[in-house]
Amino acid sequence: MVTDAFDPARVVSDLEELRALTGGPEGARRLAWTDDWVKARDLLRAKLAEIPGVTDVEMDECGNIWATLPGARPESVVVGSHVDAVPAGGWLDGVLGVMSALEVLRAAAASGTPPCTVKLVDWADEEGARFGRSLLGSSAFAGTLEIEDVKRLTDRDGITLDEALKAMGVDLDRSHLAKRRIEDVRAYLELHIEQGPVLESEGLAVGAVLGTVGVERYTVTFRGQAAHAGSTPMLHRKDTFAAAARFALLLRDVAIRHEGVSTVGNAVCTPGVVTAVPGVTEILVDQRHLDADVLRAMNDDARAASEEAAAEFGCTVQWEPLWRIPPIPFDPDLIADARAAVEEVTGTDRALPSGPLHDAAEMARLVPTVMLFASSTNGLSHCVEEDTPIEHLLLAARAFGIAAGRAIERVGAG
Ligand SMILES: [Zn+2]
Repeated sequence: MVTDAFDPARVVSDLEELRALTGGPEGARRLAWTDDWVKARDLLRAKLAEIPGVTDVEMDECGNIWATLPGARPESVVVGSHVDAVPAGGWLDGVLGVMSALEVLRAAAASGTPPCTVKLVDWADEEGARFGRSLLGSSAFAGTLEIEDVKRLTDRDGITLDEALKAMGVDLDRSHLAKRRIEDVRAYLELHIEQGPVLESEGLAVGAVLGTVGVERYTVTFRGQAAHAGSTPMLHRKDTFAAAARFALLLRDVAIRHEGVSTVGNAVCTPGVVTAVPGVTEILVDQRHLDADVLRAMNDDARAASEEAAAEFGCTVQWEPLWRIPPIPFDPDLIADARAAVEEVTGTDRALPSGPLHDAAEMARLVPTVMLFASSTNGLSHCVEEDTPIEHLLLAARAFGIAAGRAIERVGAG
C-alpha cells in the first residue's frame, strides 16, 4: 500500500535540500526558464532516477517534466505541482507538491508493482513571474494557451518568451503534441500551500480544496461634475469619489453576505487635484466565488449598490468588463477521498475553495482533479517569510499520501 510506505519526513528533508541548493536569506531562486530553475529540476530528476521502476523522465513539448512508474494497468494517477517560483519567493510554493508527489512514487515503488500507473508532473512556469503569463505549462498542455500572443511577451531584458523557451528546447508551436499524455490519466492530485490565513486561523494543518473560484473583473466609472473645492457647498456637489467610496463599503457588505470576496484594487480621480471636486472616478473591481450562481448574484447586487451610491451623490455609473473566468469545481469523488484523508490526520474534514488559480484548474478541465492545502504561517506566500510549521507539513504530506493512495487503489480496481 502506498499509504503505509509514504514517509512525510522524506518530503520535508527533500524540501530542505532544495532550499539549500536554490534558496537562502534572499529567498528562493527558481525563476522559470533560468539556470537556477534547471538546477532545481535536475535535483528532482536525480531523485526520480533513484526510484526503482521509474522508467522515462522526460520533458514534454510544453516544457513540463513527466516521470512514469508503470503499474499493473496502463490507466494512471498523476501527482505533481510546480518547481518554479517567483523571484525571492518562499521555500514551499509549488515544491511542496512536487516533493510530496515524488514521495508518492517512492512509496508506490516500495510496495511492489502499483495497481495502476503512477506519474509525476512538474508543470513549467506556473508563476508567470518572468513573462507575465501564469500557468504557462499546464495551460499549453490543456490547450487553453493563446500561443501566438504569449510567444511575443518579453522579459525585463527584452528577451521574448519564444526565444527563452526555444533556448531550453521548448517550441510552443509543437505544444499540442503534449496532450497525448492525458489519454490514460484517470485522476490528478496536487498538494499546495494555502497562501492565505484560513487554515492557520482554525488551527488546522491541512484541508481539502473544493475547486478554484470564479473571477469577475470590471472597470467601474462614476461620472458627476468637476467643481471648485472652495465655492461649491457640500450639498451642491456631484462628487464621484464620495459615490465610489460609498460603493466600496456596500461592495464589502455584498461579499460578506454571499461569503465571497470582493476588492476595489485602485481608484483614479479626475481632474485629480486637491482644489477640485472629482468629476470622474474610475475604480477597479474584482469579485470571486466558488459557485457560479452566487457569483452572478454578487455581481447583480454590486451593480445595484453602485446605482444606489451614484444616485445618492447625483452621479451616474457604468461597468466595463476587464476579465472573467468561471469557477472550476474539483471532482466530487476525489474531494470525498481528500476530505477523508484530511479527517484521518486532523480529526476534521475541513474543505475550502481556492482563491488563487493553480495548475490543477487546468487539469480539472481534462480529468477528475482535487487539491489539498497545507496551512500558511501568517497567510504569507510569494515572499521570503513564506512558511508552514514542520508538524503541519508532515500532517499535510501524510494526508496527501493517503488521498493519492486511495486514488491509485480505485483506478487500479478499474
Ligand atoms: Zn504555486
